[in-house]
Amino acid sequence: SVQITGLSKRYGPQSVLDGFDLTVRTGEVVVVLGPSGSGKSTLLRCINHLEQWDAGEIRVGGRRLGFRVDGRPMTQHDIANERASVGVGMVFQHFNLFSHLSACENIAGPLRWVFGVPADEAERRARALLDRVGLGHRADALPRHLSGGQQQRVAIARALAPNPRVLLLDEPTSALDPERVGEVLDVIRRLALEDGLTMMISTHQLRFAEQVADHVVFMSGGAIVEQGHAHEVLRHPRHALTRRFLSMMG
Ligand code: ATP
Ligand code: MG
Repeated sequence: SVQITGLSKRYGPQSVLDGFDLTVRTGEVVVVLGPSGSGKSTLLRCINHLEQWDAGEIRVGGRRLGFRVDGRPMTQHDIANERASVGVGMVFQHFNLFSHLSACENIAGPLRWVFGVPADEAERRARALLDRVGLGHRADALPRHLSGGQQQRVAIARALAPNPRVLLLDEPTSALDPERVGEVLDVIRRLALEDGLTMMISTHQLRFAEQVADHVVFMSGGAIVEQGHAHEVLRHPRHALTRRFLSMMG
């Protein structure tokens, strides 16, 4: 589960998240919607501790992020350890693969470096994950020899490799050519429906949101305008801002 209470984050004078509260239960898929600049990426980046926040609390699997037992400030090293042990994985809009490493090494490398998995096991797991996202035959290709949709599927496999408790996906299809969107959404849909993974996804794909989301959060200006059952929010939005956004997207 993910429990966020009173989360606030500013960039200089600009408040980006303002007293944000949200609970994501284990196995739940939450889709985060909102106009550009509403704070979706900032929210997900805070949960992955890629950003520091100014106030509030984030708990993943009951564990509070951002604090050492001895109360000293966290170093980058502490944060990397925290991310690995708490079990948060993230998929980015622009894939962020290591360009000089093959698809297989993009997955096996971090398993060895960060998680200390022995080389042969890391490679076996990487190849099995590539099979799962339909890329077993491209395991030895470099990212630049893969399509955008294939690169994003490698990135999803990489994020899954350490068996995260929670997978965060920040607009996973918005950098893709339209004809490549479906293959990535199919992979995510399977993770949601078949594997029961806990996920938070920001996306503009409303039809997809309706298929995978248990819960939909509509944000504007760093706060939740409206949230609820996916069907309720998407079909019967109550707030005028949500209605306007949905009619613009749909
Ligand atoms: P989009 O749909 O365009 O991805 P978003 O909902 O993900 O938007 P964020 O990227 O979280 O929005 O940005 C929220 C606000 O914070 C925006 O006004 C943005 O300009 C600002 N912001 C984000 N990152 C930074 C940063 N590193 N420094 C300063 N301001 C930032
Ligand atoms: Mg964003």
